[in-house]
Amino acid sequence: METQNKDLKYWRSRRATLEIEGRAFIDGTYREAQSHHTFDCISPIDGTLLARIAACGEADVNDAVCAARRAFDSNGWAGLNPRARKAIMLRWAALIREHADELALLETLDAGKPIADTTTVDVPGAAYCIEWFAEAIDKVCGEVAPADQHLVGLVTREPIGVVAAVVPWNFPLLMAAWKFAPALAAGNSVVLKPSEKSPLTAIRVARLALEAGIPPGVFNVLPGGGETGKGLALHRDVDCIAFTGSTPVGKLITQYAGESNLKRVWLELGGKSPNIVLPDCADLERAAKTAASAIFYNMGEMCTAGSRLLVHRNIKEAFLDKLIDATRRYVPGNPLDPATAMGAIIDQTQLDRVLGYVDTGRREARLLTGGSRAHVVDGGFYIEPTIFDTDNGNALIAREEIFGPVLSVITFDTIDEAVRIANASDYGLAAAVWTADLTTAHDVSRRLRSGTVWVNCYDEGGDMNFPFGGYRQSGNGRDKSLHALEKYTELKSTLIRLR
Ligand code: NAP
Ligand code: MG
Repeated sequence: METQNKDLKYWRSRRATLEIEGRAFIDGTYREAQSHHTFDCISPIDGTLLARIAACGEADVNDAVCAARRAFDSNGWAGLNPRARKAIMLRWAALIREHADELALLETLDAGKPIADTTTVDVPGAAYCIEWFAEAIDKVCGEVAPADQHLVGLVTREPIGVVAAVVPWNFPLLMAAWKFAPALAAGNSVVLKPSEKSPLTAIRVARLALEAGIPPGVFNVLPGGGETGKGLALHRDVDCIAFTGSTPVGKLITQYAGESNLKRVWLELGGKSPNIVLPDCADLERAAKTAASAIFYNMGEMCTAGSRLLVHRNIKEAFLDKLIDATRRYVPGNPLDPATAMGAIIDQTQLDRVLGYVDTGRREARLLTGGSRAHVVDGGFYIEPTIFDTDNGNALIAREEIFGPVLSVITFDTIDEAVRIANASDYGLAAAVWTADLTTAHDVSRRLRSGTVWVNCYDEGGDMNFPFGGYRQSGNGRDKSLHALEKYTELKSTLIRLR
């Protein structure tokens, strides 16, 4: 199989025999929703029905949370030596790698992402994330705090209990892994709610978790819509909710926690990230190619999308020529074709939303390229990569998160002006600056109010070592890195009197 040329024909033939599981995974078994209700899982590639998925309601939320609580209280997972949890999680990651083709195909069919990306980023990235936290967890030590002679003071981290994870559809498996890997490694039980737009890979890997040896009830997957997520966020026996999604829903999650049991709330939310090209940028060609991938990779359905391109007036015309050239790489194509760099938009609703912003853009800015629906596969949802010149950036399209392949170009004259525009946003997830001057690089990156700053690059740092998250309304807390463990643990001080 490995030597086979994995072309469009290969993926089509795999699809023909693919079995798709659509049931919830609770307490170690696949189950229908108690109401027997389902929702349709539609492929954005061609609008066809992939599967009917269990629409989990309140009763299922309760079942999953109870199973997770029982598993936690039994100490069968939390009580293991961290080395044992590590071994099991490494087996799980290995199983994910063994099933990589199947999982990548599921992700591509479900979310319209190019197979070239799901095979190289989403699936191996999720396996790597599990491996990283598995490898880390038996090396994390507590502290012995300085204290009076008669005391021994221990500072330890303990698992928090039942963690609910509610995730979006743009990187369905990877965003989920960023939550469940550290949460499970730390000894918690997890109830994962994938987006109803992309539930398939989460449902599939649950079974692999059981096969790897994760005890029943420790990892549960509850497909359903916003109401299912709300049920988890309001549940009094959920200790922590880790959410990735939009800022408006993030605000609701915070409210639900306040209305119920003050569960810990961790939010990874939206962005409108500035990518600043200064006139001393050493390689405009590379900056232009990177600016294109910063907004058009994953169809622009990226929380970190470099959706505001700030270009200095003196280099603007030359830079835009190069950028439009670089955009040709992102012609929408069939996501199952390995040559495709730009796949389908997740669904009709999101396509309409993006086209709505494009219409607004046509009225308030100058269209430089794109702007139309693309017709790739009948019944599918495709749009051309689109660039607007918005001049000063006051346009609506330059301020609101579009979550699609639409770039707003903004012109500036001074570094101070660029920093001011960059920071004039409710968001603060990521930012980038291109400059050949070391001092400017440090100075500007210090002044940018965002969780990540890239200098002379964008979207680098695919390994797990860098904390990821936002300032301001882009959220709180950090995914990835050892800092992620802080979200899923309580800190305990134990003071022992010796005499
Ligand atoms: P969303 O509409 O906020 O949904 C996110 C998740 O919350 C989905 O599972 C959704 O379920 C669920 N949900 C919806 N309403 C809910 C409610 N009232 N209570 C509890 N859960 C609820 O976001 P999205 O459209 O899926 O994703 C796009 C957004 O995610 C963008 O704003 C993007 O920037 C952000 N994002 C952020 C990051 C980051 O790390 N900062 C990463 C990726 C995406 P259903 O989908 O089933 O309705
Ligand atoms: Mg789908």
